[in-house]
Amino acid sequence: MTSTRPQATPLPERVRTLVVGAGFAGLGTAIKLEESGFSDFLVVDKGATVGGTWRDNTYPGAACDVPSQLYSFSFAPNAGWSRSFSAQPEIHAYLERTAEQSGVLDRFRFGVTVEDLAWDEEDSLWHVTTDHGVVLADIVITGSGGLSEPKLPAIVGLDSFRGEVFHSARWNHAYDLSGKRVAVIGTGASSIQIVPEVARQVAHLDVYQRTAPWVMPRKDRPYRAVERLAFRFLPFVQKAYRTGIYWGRECFVPAFVVNPHLAAPAKKLALKNIERGISDPELRAAVTPDYQIGCKRILISNDYYPALDKDHVTVVTDGIAEITPTGIVTQDGAAREVDAIVVATGFHTTELPLAEHIKGRDGRTLADAWREEGMTAYKGTTISGFPNLFQIVGPNTGLGHSSMVFIIESQIAYILSALQKMGSHELLTVEPKPEAQQSWNMDVQRRMQRTVWNTGGCASWYLDDHGRNTTLWPRTTFKFRSLLSDFDLDQYVVTTGPRNITSGPATRTKENAA
Ligand code: NAP
Repeated sequence: MTSTRPQATPLPERVRTLVVGAGFAGLGTAIKLEESGFSDFLVVDKGATVGGTWRDNTYPGAACDVPSQLYSFSFAPNAGWSRSFSAQPEIHAYLERTAEQSGVLDRFRFGVTVEDLAWDEEDSLWHVTTDHGVVLADIVITGSGGLSEPKLPAIVGLDSFRGEVFHSARWNHAYDLSGKRVAVIGTGASSIQIVPEVARQVAHLDVYQRTAPWVMPRKDRPYRAVERLAFRFLPFVQKAYRTGIYWGRECFVPAFVVNPHLAAPAKKLALKNIERGISDPELRAAVTPDYQIGCKRILISNDYYPALDKDHVTVVTDGIAEITPTGIVTQDGAAREVDAIVVATGFHTTELPLAEHIKGRDGRTLADAWREEGMTAYKGTTISGFPNLFQIVGPNTGLGHSSMVFIIESQIAYILSALQKMGSHELLTVEPKPEAQQSWNMDVQRRMQRTVWNTGGCASWYLDDHGRNTTLWPRTTFKFRSLLSDFDLDQYVVTTGPRNITSGPATRTKENAA
C-alpha cells in the first residue's frame, strides 16, 4: 500500500489552514482537523508519501528506540506490531495505513516543496510559495520535523572523495556494500544501528568515533502469538501495555532534570553492555564515555559492541584531519583507504533551514528573530511576530526518554483549541504576547540549568552555538500536556475582523479577547 497521490491536481489558491509536512505531526494534524470539522486544509510534503523521518531514514537497521506501543497515535492503535521495538518499515507502513484509513489523503499534495512563507499584514494571510505555485492560507501549521535536514560534517576534502558518499538519512540502496572497504563517520543513534548491519556485508569497516555514546541493552523481542491475539481482541490489554510503558518512561525524568546520579543503575547496565560485547580491554576503554550518562541521548543496542569487536572492524578515535580522493586521514597522520563513506553525522537541529524562509510581520525572518537568543517559542508552538503560525515540534519540545508522538498530540490539541477559540471569538489573528513568550522561555532555561544535558560534561545537538538547550523539554510529558490542554487566549495579542482577503487591514488590538 502506498499513500502517494498523483500530482496532476493543481494546488488550491486559497485554504483556511496549510500544513507543512506529512510525518507524524502533519498526518496527525490533518486527521484531527477533519475530525473537528476544520476540513478546509491542505497538507504539502516534498516527499512522495506520508512518513517524514520514517519515510526518509531507510538505512539498514533503522528502528525506533521507543517501544512500539507508545510510538503510535493514541487514536490509531496498531494491534499488529510484530515486536516490542518496531523497525522503520513497520512504522512507515503503519503511517501509510493510518493515512489511507483516515480518509484525509485527498487533501495531501506530495512532491511539493515549500520555498517561502510570508505574512501579508494587509490581508492577514500567509503567502506560501511552493515549487508548484502560491497558496494563500489564514493559518499555517508546520510539522516539518526537528530531524529532517541532514547535516554534513565540515571536513576538509569531503567533496574531493572519489568513492561513494552518502548521509545516513539519504541511504543509497543502489550501492552494493558487499566486499567493500567502508568508513562510517559518527557514533550516534543512527550509526549504532548501521554499524552492525554494514559490518555483516563489508570486507573492512572503519568506525570514526569522535565521542563515545552510552549504549544500554535493547530489550527487544518479537511479540508472542498470545500477546498479538490479545492486542487484536482485547484492546484494553494493549492499552495497559501502553500505559505501563508510558509511566515507566516518565520515571526516568528526574534522572535527567533533577539529579543525574539517579541514573547510576543505567550507567552500570551500559558498562556491563560494553564488557559483554567487547573482549579487548583497549577497545573497551576507547568506547567508554567520559561524561555523565544522559548528557547525550542514551542509545540502546545489543549488537553494536559485538560488531566493533569483530576483526575486520576498526574503531578510529583520532580526529579526522581530512578526506582525500581515496580515503580518510586522521590527525596522527594515518591514512585509511575506503571505497565508500557513510556520513552518520546527524541533522540541523538548532538552526532550522526553513527558519530562513519564514517571514513574519515586517518581513522579519524566523532566523532573524532567533539569531540573538536562539530558537524560542511560546509553549514550543507559537512565536511573537508570526501571527497564525503554529509549529509542531518547535523549540524545547524534544524528548530523550519518551515518545515524540505524545508531544505531537499535545500540540495538536492546543492548536485545535486555538482554532476553536478563533472561531468562537471571531478572531482574525492570534500571536503570543512577547512577554508571555519571554517568561515561558526564562522558565524553561531556568529549569535547564540543572539538567544533565547542560551539566553532564558533553557537547550535543541539544545545545545551540550559545550553549543554550533550545531543543529539549525539561519536565514531564504529562506536565507539557496539561500546560497545552487549553488555548490560553489571555497570553495572546489578537486581531478581529471579517476573514476576507479584500477586507483591508485588520483592526489591531493590543488587548486580548478573553
Ligand atoms: P547524532 O546523534 O547527532 O550523531 C552524530 C554523530 O556524528 C555523533 O557521534 C557526532 O560526534 C558525529 N559527528 C558529527 N560531526 C562530526 C565530525 N565532523 N567528525 C566526526 N564525527 C562527527 O545523529 P544521529 O545518529 O543521526 O541521531 C540524531 C537523532 O535522531 C537522535 O539523537 C535521535 O533523536 C534520532 N534518531 C533516533 C533513532 C532511534 O530511535 N533509534 C535512530 C536514529 C536517530 P559527537 O558526539 O562528538 O558530536
